[in-house]
Amino acid sequence: DNTNNETRIQQLDKRTVRQIAAGEVVERPASVVKEFVENSIDADASRIQVTVEEGGTERITVSDDGHGMSETDVRMAVKEHTTSKITDITDLESGVLTLGFRGEALHTIGAVSRLTIKTKPRGSTDAGTKLQLSGGTVENVSKTGCPEGTTVEVDDLFYNTPARQKYLKTEATEFSHINTVVTEYALANPDIAFSLSHNGREVFSTTGQDNLQGTILSVYGKEVATSMIEINQEADELPDGTINSIRGFVSDPETTRSTREYMSTNINGRYVNSAEVRNAILSAYGNQLAVNRYPFVVIFLDIPRDFVDVNVHPRKMEVRFDDEDGICAQVRKTVENTLLEHGLIRTSAPRG
Ligand code: ADP
Ligand code: MG
Repeated sequence: DNTNNETRIQQLDKRTVRQIAAGEVVERPASVVKEFVENSIDADASRIQVTVEEGGTERITVSDDGHGMSETDVRMAVKEHTTSKITDITDLESGVLTLGFRGEALHTIGAVSRLTIKTKPRGSTDAGTKLQLSGGTVENVSKTGCPEGTTVEVDDLFYNTPARQKYLKTEATEFSHINTVVTEYALANPDIAFSLSHNGREVFSTTGQDNLQGTILSVYGKEVATSMIEINQEADELPDGTINSIRGFVSDPETTRSTREYMSTNINGRYVNSAEVRNAILSAYGNQLAVNRYPFVVIFLDIPRDFVDVNVHPRKMEVRFDDEDGICAQVRKTVENTLLEHGLIRTSAPRG
């Protein structure tokens, strides 16, 4: 009966709203790693070190040599919806180049963990700043000796949201998600030196010397690296003007895994999970791949900005091509030709 003033509907308190929102941004330790690594890349880092304990549930530390933050910056950065990357929606429409822009990662991760940030602006000769948050409350801000750049540490993720904590999988599973995230960013950014350590042991490190083959060797090891064939097509070798270049490496049809996870597609320098591009590559192999087996791929498409939209979805990195069919056909053809040249597929695969 809605004629009286009673209602069963109530406005959620801020704390509850924040914890629900946190659940969307931070599903598991790997989501924290992803947000921090993206921030380090956006901060123009040339070195990013990821160190985790117990699959990230105990501790996650991401350290970079990026542009760092002043005390005023870092106090601001942990507040709700604060970002240095856009000012309004027109920035998004004109296509921002940063990985972040929502201004919610530090705030929401801070709300569901104990967060410590140590940071010092590049070129500063003063001490740095250390800021500590517990469950979203600033506990302490102090001066600290630290190198230029930023180190963000998360302890006891989900300590105050037991329901979330319950959904965490085993240490090995949580770590494998973290490994996937760091691997993707390391492959997408061969000019950045990445390292990943788990429980005190280094899992991999890359040199940051902008050598894709060397990066593949560092993350996937020798067996995979030696099975990879180079793809390199420039605009003048491609039929029409919608792709500037297709570069990267694909494995021979024998070197495969049982998931598509090792097919890394990058558009205009950023990691973009494109099912369409992956399928185009798979079709190039024709029937040379065993059933449910997928190759290793690290491919970079350079597409003129007018033909691609990379910021269509605020949370997930998605991409929309003006001429998806045309682009996929060219990717397929290019990979197919390279495999043919190396005698890895017999004839042109049947058109699907
Ligand atoms: P977003 O990345 O969407 O802007 P975040 O909550 O992830 O939002 O970060 C908020 C702000 O904090 C960033 O816009 C940036 O100015 C600053 N920041 C975060 N991480 C770093 C870092 N590693 N180095 C320098 N600045 C950082
Ligand atoms: Mg961010």
